[in-house]
Amino acid sequence: MQPVMNGPQILFCPRCSAMSPARPLAYDEDCEIHGVEFSFHVDAFECMNCGEELADPADPELMRPMYDAYRAASGTLDAASVKAIRERSGLSQVAFATLLGMSPATINRFEMGAPIAIKEDNLIRMAGIPSALRMLLRQRGHLLKPGQRPKR
Ligand SMILES: [Zn+2]
Repeated sequence: MQPVMNGPQILFCPRCSAMSPARPLAYDEDCEIHGVEFSFHVDAFECMNCGEELADPADPELMRPMYDAYRAASGTLDAASVKAIRERSGLSQVAFATLLGMSPATINRFEMGAPIAIKEDNLIRMAGIPSALRMLLRQRGHLLKPGQRPKR
């Protein structure tokens, strides 16, 4: 997110292959993630020479408005909540993913803010219920290595 959006800036335009004057651009965009439809607000810039929309693809905040809107529309967990549920379980990302039948990379992405499909959101929420977690450890605990079991 650019902190100051209220005036033209000089940004690199890939279509012009040059630094170009760019004006702020704001609009609402309709989108669908994991089957959930929603709209979100986009703040970007537009090249004043060619009209290309300019954003910094290296900006880690670039997807945040879209993901926040998805979470609001779908009622799914945010990154901090996923991490909090996992940490309360006493399990590493690898062990938590193993118990839930997900890949560790998926749990890692969720803890970094990636949007969560509703069925996976349900699984993670249920793993946050102590009796459900105990059931998972009984049913799937054999999949964990000895050092991966919660220490309690
Ligand atoms: Zn341009």
